[in-house]
This record gives sequence, C-alpha cells and structure tokens, in this order.
Amino acid sequence: MTTEELRESLLSAPKNGYVGMTAEQKDAMNAYCKRYAAFMDAAKTEREATAWAVAEAEKNGFVPFVPGMSVKAGDKIYYNNRDKAIALAVIGTESLDKGANICAAHVDSPRLDLKPNPLYEDSEVTYFKTHYYGGIKKYQWTAIELAIHGVVCRKDGTRVDVVIGEDVNDPIVMVSDLLPHLAADQMQKTASQVIAGEQLNVILGTEPIEGEGADLVKLNIMKLLNEKYGITEDDFQSAELCIVPAGKCREAGLDRSLLSAYGHDDRVCSYAELEALFTIDTPTKTAVCILADKEEIGSVGVTGMQSAYFEHFMGGLCDAQGVKLEDCFANSFCLSADVSNAFDPNFPEVSERRNNSRLNYGVSICKYTGSRGKGGASDASAEAMAHIRKTFNEAGVKWQIAELGKVDQGGGGTVAAYMANRNIVTVDAGVPVLSMHAPLELVSKLDCYHTMLACKAVYLA
Ligand code: MN
Ligand code: MN
Repeated sequence: MTTEELRESLLSAPKNGYVGMTAEQKDAMNAYCKRYAAFMDAAKTEREATAWAVAEAEKNGFVPFVPGMSVKAGDKIYYNNRDKAIALAVIGTESLDKGANICAAHVDSPRLDLKPNPLYEDSEVTYFKTHYYGGIKKYQWTAIELAIHGVVCRKDGTRVDVVIGEDVNDPIVMVSDLLPHLAADQMQKTASQVIAGEQLNVILGTEPIEGEGADLVKLNIMKLLNEKYGITEDDFQSAELCIVPAGKCREAGLDRSLLSAYGHDDRVCSYAELEALFTIDTPTKTAVCILADKEEIGSVGVTGMQSAYFEHFMGGLCDAQGVKLEDCFANSFCLSADVSNAFDPNFPEVSERRNNSRLNYGVSICKYTGSRGKGGASDASAEAMAHIRKTFNEAGVKWQIAELGKVDQGGGGTVAAYMANRNIVTVDAGVPVLSMHAPLELVSKLDCYHTMLACKAVYLA
C-alpha cells in the first residue's frame, strides 16, 4: 500500500458538507430551509410552535390521542400537552414492546417573561417589568426591536392570544440602554452587571390620557390593551406574555449559506423532527417525535421532559397493544435533538479545535454533554454510538462528532439525561449554532437540512 492509500484507509478525513454536493441536493436543502424559515416566523414561543405542530399534524392525518383508543400500524397520533408541548407517533408494524424510535427536541427559547404585576409608570413613561427566562446575556436585550407574544386568561376564564410587533404596521417595544456619554460607571462593570435583571424594563408608551390624577400614561396603555384584547390590569395575574426579538428568520451571509433567527435553539431541531415525521408512511418500529417545553430552565414542570406526560402518552399506546411500557422503554432508542456550539473563529480560546462542531460539517453528535467532569451528562455508550454511526452512514446523513467547548470552560445539558433516566438508550445530536442564546442566532442551511435527514434516519432505523 502506498502512504496515500494507508492514509485513506486508516485515518479520519472529515470534509465540508458542500464538497461533492449536487445541484439537486442544494435545491432540496434550500427548499427545506424556506419551509423552516416560515415555521420560525410563525413559532416564536413553545405555545406557537405547539399550535403550528398541531395544525400541520392534522393536515397530515394525525388524530388526537385518547386513552383507551385502539391503534394499528400506520396510525398517526398526537398528544397536545396543554398547548405547550406535543408528542406525535406513527405506529410501526412491530409491537411496541420491541421499542420505539424517538426524536426529542425542545420548543422553548430564552426570552423575557412578564412579571405577575408587570405594568407601571415612572416619570411619565410606562413599562412592563420582566423576569428573564433561560440563560441570557442581559446586555444583549437592550436597544433592539422586541415583540410581545403570549396569552392572557381573563377573569371569566376565556383566553386571548397576543402578538404585537411582528406585522410591519405594528409598533415594536424596546428596553433602553445608557448613552455612552454618561456610561463611565457602567462601562467599568462586568458584563453580567452592565444591565441588571431589574433594568430589563420594556417601554410601552409615553402619551398621557386626558384628565387628572396619577398614572395617566399607564391608564392610556391599559385602555389600548383593553380595546384590543378585552383585558384589565388584574388579568396579567393569569397571563403568559413573553418579550422576544421582533422580526423574521432571514438568509445571512453574502452567499446566503446561513440563517439568522431568534430561537434556532431548539426549534431548528424541532422542525427537523416534525418534517421528517410527516414524510413517514408505516415504519417498522413506532416513530415518536417529542417537542418539549422548559428545557431552558431544567426540563421541569408539567410540560417539561421530566413530566410524566410522556409516560401517559407512551403508556397509552402500549396499553392499546397489550404490552408493558417498561419493555417499550427498555428497547427504545432516542435521539436527543438539540443544538451545539459551532466553532467560532472569533472566540477560538473557548473551544478545543479537534473536538468542536463546525459549520457545514452536518448534524453534530455529542456522546455526552454536561460540564467539568461530565457532570450532569447522559454519556452514550460505545454501542449506542455505533448504532447511530451506522444509521446515519446508511442514510447518507452528513454528520460530525464533537463536544461543547473546552473541558474546563463550562458546559450544557439537554433533555438527553431525562430520556436516559427512563431506561431509553439516548444519544445527543443537533445543529451547530453561532451566538447561541443571543437575540439572533446563526445556523448553516446545510446543517439544518442534514439534521432533518438524521431524524428521518432514526425514525426508520
Ligand atoms: Mn437547546
Ligand atoms: Mn438553550
């Protein structure tokens, strides 16, 4: 053997995903990314993503899960968990005690939530008080265009959906920052203190209503909200209103190879899972897609991945086949589909180049997440890694393998650990992201497309 032949047969040779890409593949990738961008414009919160998924599922022949229902191969069933999370299944030909093929992603993203008593006026400016949700750099949320998304449940229990700031004719809202001229003290602070949590107050208006007394600007704002949504100030006590960056998912880079949007983490994997599921007819093993809430704060609560809603759904499907849920879990495989950090040449010092995701190298597998000594990680076994390698290779999925930054630099987690705790073999993989958790994040179109192909391969494995 020549040295060159030896090199080829023995050494790894990762290649940029664009190498050898055909025109047809490029068209398919671009078309996929257009559909993904449309989803992103419609789904900026877990509620909006769930509503979108329910509507599309119904168009694709899925029916709501009802405990006690009978199921047969080819049936398409979804379980809407309180309008904030969703699980969907396409029933396979094989019995569920042989296991299911699961893809699990999350549809919540970091943002500013309103406090329970949010509305106030100070110096004839009216604001919402906010409480940030998930891991954000607070200073990034000032002086950018923001929108209000969410729901308000009125005194009589009726619910109204709110979206303000997305239509071009809508007003946006904003958090102010300090002018550099007077920022001498501010600029001495550390980045985590430059903007304090209690300064993330959203400006709503400045025009006083005609009349006497206090809070005339606040009263005017409440009057506008009442006219549009039929709500009063007390109704904020039973509301979930979120402040998120306004605007659309857009192509980025002069070559249009990237997509910029709020909340790619983790709706980029959520969409990949959904679209892949919708292309499936009758798989061998039952294919399950999970879009969970609350990942950004620990997968807690009734709509998070730790919730027993997942057992309720899967247990119901198992009951219909007369098999045990424990047997199903013991033989299942889960792809925990969540984003990773793309290597950023602007910040090379936080990454170990040999083990960091790269843009355009495809879906990025993480054998383990966690931090420091793998604390909190779901560490996939060699056997699980062999399974996923084989699955991806056979389906022509472009993939890479990496970990999140340098060993001592920090770390992160996903829903993987909560799936593995259920006795389900689980591997993490997802789209590499630049500027993760910033108001606008960047992903590569190629990686988005191959993550969809990866989900499809897992469903059909
Ligand atoms: Mn995530
Ligand atoms: Mn995240």
